[in-house]
Amino acid sequence: MKLKALAATACVWAALASGASGAEGFDIAITVDDLPAHGPLPKGMTRADIAASYLATLKTHKVPEAYGFANPAKTTSEPGSAIVLDLWRKADYPLGNHTFTHMGLAKAPSLEAWLADLEAGEPEVAKRMTGWTWKVLRFPFLNATAEDPARRAGAMTWLADHGYAIAEVTVSFDDFAYTDAYARCLAKGDTATIKAMEVQYFKQVDDGIVRMKTLSQKVYGRMIPQVLLTHLGGWSAHTLPTVMQKLDAAGARYVTLSQAQSDVAYLEADPLRGNGPMMERAAKRKGIAIDEVIKPAPTANVKELCK
Ligand SMILES: [Zn+2]
Repeated sequence: MKLKALAATACVWAALASGASGAEGFDIAITVDDLPAHGPLPKGMTRADIAASYLATLKTHKVPEAYGFANPAKTTSEPGSAIVLDLWRKADYPLGNHTFTHMGLAKAPSLEAWLADLEAGEPEVAKRMTGWTWKVLRFPFLNATAEDPARRAGAMTWLADHGYAIAEVTVSFDDFAYTDAYARCLAKGDTATIKAMEVQYFKQVDDGIVRMKTLSQKVYGRMIPQVLLTHLGGWSAHTLPTVMQKLDAAGARYVTLSQAQSDVAYLEADPLRGNGPMMERAAKRKGIAIDEVIKPAPTANVKELCK
């Protein structure tokens, strides 16, 4: 009993200490979308360079697993980019399906067309994933047609019948919003604008981490395991080392996607699984007000940079 009490006291002290430093530990799975090619290829880089940089950063931070969600149509539209899928597997990270052409469920001509695109995405993933669980879907645009219940129901039934798991997202820093501008700025050699973009983006990462922690406490009363969405583009690779440092400093413990998603928060009855970020969706479903939580900064200005 005494030992137990001592251990409990030690826990309280540890919690107080971590709370004081703002670094309460939390689990987080890293996921990377749009393999092998997200956005325009910046000058002076290859797709393999971007993947190698990404993988090196993740390994430096001892990330045990980073699901790479693939759009295999890119392996033909960008010849030579298929090596990215091989590099991912060589790093012993798994691949999942993000549909063949990155087709959004709402924008697809029909449910059948969307399912055909999803199935067309399977062979390039499956052949590299022998012996692994590869039937994991990340909905393109995080769109699972909340607006069209019939189409959504059709998709979810098909996915369940075919043994698919759905990869959720709880946190993202809108890295995709910077992808095009980064390529333009590099082409122009505009390092000053790139520096300004870094300042803006890293502020957004800091705010995003605060938002993530606040939302989790408000919606679940604790830090649930998180799932981060990033993209395999030049900007994301360039900024990932700093993003990972910030996550480390915030108390991140890197886990696998299935570890994160085995938490009860991911098992709640949810008619909109996979549609948009999960904690915001849960807040809405539970009627929890989150308007006061720090919001992601607008990125509209980035669209105009280096034009
Ligand atoms: Zn995507």
